[in-house]
Amino acid sequence: MTTPLFRDDAYLRSCEADVVVVNERGGIVLDRTVFYATGGGQPGDTGYLELEDGTRIDIATTVYDADKKTIVHVPAEEQTLPTPGTKLTAHIDWARRYRLMRMHTALHLLSVALPFPVTGGQIGDGEGRLDFDMGETALDKEKVAAALNELAGGDHDVASEWITDEELDANPGLVKTMSVQPPRGAGRVRLVRIGRDIDLQPCGGTHVSRTSEIGPLELGKSEKKGKQNRRVRIRLAD
Ligand SMILES: [Zn+2]
Repeated sequence: MTTPLFRDDAYLRSCEADVVVVNERGGIVLDRTVFYATGGGQPGDTGYLELEDGTRIDIATTVYDADKKTIVHVPAEEQTLPTPGTKLTAHIDWARRYRLMRMHTALHLLSVALPFPVTGGQIGDGEGRLDFDMGETALDKEKVAAALNELAGGDHDVASEWITDEELDANPGLVKTMSVQPPRGAGRVRLVRIGRDIDLQPCGGTHVSRTSEIGPLELGKSEKKGKQNRRVRIRLAD
């Protein structure tokens, strides 16, 4: 298992680490990392690993291994692979990650601005989308965009907290307020809270720490997806 440093501090851009193993497909496993692994609709980080002699290994993406706990750094093509025990510094592509953090947090706010059940979503670089089960309800894009920008501009605090399965079971009211139902069985779940009660939902992704960091947002094209679902796209306006 890899220590996921991004979970406690999404603003870490680099860290020192040791190579634990290079798997049969060339994936590099470190003892700890700042690289977010693909999951929860958020793409894995890109960046590079820097050896002590200055050699760089470019990382094309980051994924979880089959155990869902070990993080695998997938090198770009034609990189020289390190050997286990090698000490290095892991650097993420911070500009890209920060845009992903802004968009990820913006999508939490979109689920507040458009309060319908969310059936899917995807975070991209500078843009993202959620699918809403809103039946025949008309989508008022101007109204949603205004609500979304007001929420983002409100400079609300974004914080994470952990809750155990037992605490969830003992607080049905809390579960009811969440826009996404928390998964059970892992023993504890990470919740992301915006403001005091703007949004609370289980999430393992990386977010900005204040909504004002998101900046201005625009609604993109929306489209029907099947009978019930409406796909709503947003993008960073800058
Ligand atoms: Zn999230």
